[in-house]
Amino acid sequence: MFDIEKIRKDFPILKRDVYGKPLIYFDNAATTQKPKAVVDAIAEEYYSVNANVHRGVHFLSQRATELHEEARETVRRFIGAESSEEIIFTRGTTESINLMAFSFGEAFIKEGDEIIISAMEHHSNIVPWQMTAERKGAKLKVIPISDEGEILLDEYERLFTGRTRIVAVAHVSNVLGTANPVKEMIRMAHERGVPVLVDGAQSAPHMPVDVRTLDADFYAFSGHKVYGPTGIGVLYGKKEWLDRMPPYQGGGEMIKNVSFLKTTYNVLPYKFEAGTPDFVGSHALAVALDYVNAIGMDNINRHEHELTTYAVDALSSLKDVRFIGNSASRCGVVSFLLGNVHPFDVGTLLDRLGIAVRTGHHCAEPLMHHYGISGTVRVSFGLYNTKSEVDAFIAGMERIAKMF
Ligand code: PMP
Repeated sequence: MFDIEKIRKDFPILKRDVYGKPLIYFDNAATTQKPKAVVDAIAEEYYSVNANVHRGVHFLSQRATELHEEARETVRRFIGAESSEEIIFTRGTTESINLMAFSFGEAFIKEGDEIIISAMEHHSNIVPWQMTAERKGAKLKVIPISDEGEILLDEYERLFTGRTRIVAVAHVSNVLGTANPVKEMIRMAHERGVPVLVDGAQSAPHMPVDVRTLDADFYAFSGHKVYGPTGIGVLYGKKEWLDRMPPYQGGGEMIKNVSFLKTTYNVLPYKFEAGTPDFVGSHALAVALDYVNAIGMDNINRHEHELTTYAVDALSSLKDVRFIGNSASRCGVVSFLLGNVHPFDVGTLLDRLGIAVRTGHHCAEPLMHHYGISGTVRVSFGLYNTKSEVDAFIAGMERIAKMF
C-alpha cells in the first residue's frame, strides 16, 4: 500500500528546515533524496564488508563480490533484462551514453553515417554523439517536436536513410516531462534495422520499465535519480550488440590476458568495466531498487501522476503562467514561466519559503532555443511529495505573482 506518511519517515532529510520553513523538495529530476536504508547500506558495507571485488580469495573480498554481483542481478530484474551479462555498471547516465557514443561509434559509425537524436535531449545525449560525429565524419539529425513538447513521429520517420546507424532518445524529458512513445519509435527503427538507445534517466525513477517489452537495444539510467547513491549508474545493452563493441576504457578487470604484444579482453559485462568498480554504490543502488519495488513502480507512477495533474491544474489558475511543454503524457515534471519574471527570481523567492525548485536551461540549451527562452522554473516530483506541499508551493507562487 502507498502510505505517504510512512514513506516520508524513511527519508531523514525531509524532517529538516530551510530558512526556518519545512523543506519542500521539488528538485527530484536533478537528484532524489535517499531513504535511510540506502545510507545505512553504504555505512554498513564500509564498516563490515569493505574489500576489493573479484580478485580476492579472502572472506571479505568474496562477500563484497557477492553483494556487487547480486546488485547486478537486482538491476537486471528491475529493468527486465534477459541476462546480467547485459548490465554494465557505470558512473551514471552520462558515462553510459559516453560509453555508447565511443564504443558503438568505433564499431558501427563511419564517415557519412547518420545518428538520430531528438530536439528535447539533455546535453548528455547530445554532446557525446556530436563528438562521435566529429571524430567519424558522421552527421547528427534531430527529430523536431511540437509546441506541446511531443516528438513528431512523421518527421522522425522521414529522417531515416540507408546511412542511419543509431537512434538515441530520452524516454522522459527532464524539462517538458513528456514521456516519449519509445516503444513505437523502437519498432519504427527496427523495421529499418537501426538500434535504439533509450536515455532512461527520467523514466527509471517514475515508471515500470521493461527493456524487453520496449525491445530497447540499449537503456541508460542513473542511481542517484532513483533514490540510490551518486556515482553509480547503468548501461543495459543487448548481448548481440555489446559483443561486437570494443572496450571503452582499458585497465584492470576488463582483460583476459595482457602481454606487451597483445591483450585479450574479458567477457561481458567486465569488458566494459575497467578498474575498481563502485561496489559499495552498486549494492546501495540495489537497496534503493528493492525499496522502490517494495512500494511498487506502478504505485509511484500513479501517485506522481496525481501530483503532476494537481499542480498543473493549480498553476493554470494563476494569471500569467505559461507552461513549457504540455503533453498529456507528462510524467512528474512541470516547467513553466511566470509572466516576464526571470526564472531565477522565482526560484530564489521559492527557496526563501523552503521550496527547492530548479531554474535555468536544465542542460537542454537547444530545447530552450526551440521555445525562444533562456530557461524555465521546473518543479519535479518524487515518491515522497504530497498535495499539501503542492498547496504550499501554489500559495508561494501567488505571493510571488503579487510582488511582480
Ligand atoms: N538525461 C536526462 C534526461 C537527465 O535528466 C539527466 C540528468 N539531469 C541526464 C541524462 C544525466 O544524468 P547524470 O548527470 O546522472 O549522468
